[in-house]
Amino acid sequence: MTTAVLAVQGAFAEHEAKLAELGEKVVELRQAADLGQPFDRLVLPGGESTTQGKLLAELGMLEALRERIAAGMPTLATCAGLILLARRLDAHDDKGTPRLATLDVLVQRNAYGRQLGSFHTNLQLKGLGEVPATFIRAPFVMEAGANVDVLATHEGRIVAVRQGGQIGLAFHPELDADPRVHELFLSL
Ligand code: GLN
Repeated sequence: MTTAVLAVQGAFAEHEAKLAELGEKVVELRQAADLGQPFDRLVLPGGESTTQGKLLAELGMLEALRERIAAGMPTLATCAGLILLARRLDAHDDKGTPRLATLDVLVQRNAYGRQLGSFHTNLQLKGLGEVPATFIRAPFVMEAGANVDVLATHEGRIVAVRQGGQIGLAFHPELDADPRVHELFLSL
């Protein structure tokens, strides 16, 4: 099987390394022509969601990816990726920047403020048990729709969700040695 990693901006190389370690074939999506390669799954990395959304629209990739995700293609979205997938953003954050908007959640960006912007912790993730989690200027899920399964919370806030093939994480499993989150994704 082949996983496409969105590689227009952000921390895509870390996901690629993790997937390669697990024996997965990886292709990069940098321009619309890359969508013509065969791939079965998608990773949306962390980075800057506003930049990523604008680039996806400008490069002509937004609609095609939205259709495939909505049709059930397994998709792992971390941090900025979660923001791109969210159907709704907190009004304060929503500047009308293009997004994929396929995941039925309401998300707040930079939810931990500047002081506590980045931290490392362990979380109980449904189906996996305790996993390490690195948060970097992370968003969190304020509301999850009825079809959305909450996979993990941190101090009462939803930080991991799944809806069908879409897994949305506020943290960065690609930055820790533990491979189980990527293994879970590859098992979908
Ligand atoms: N704060 C970033 C955003 O709003 C996300 C941070 C990250 O991906 N590590 O897009």
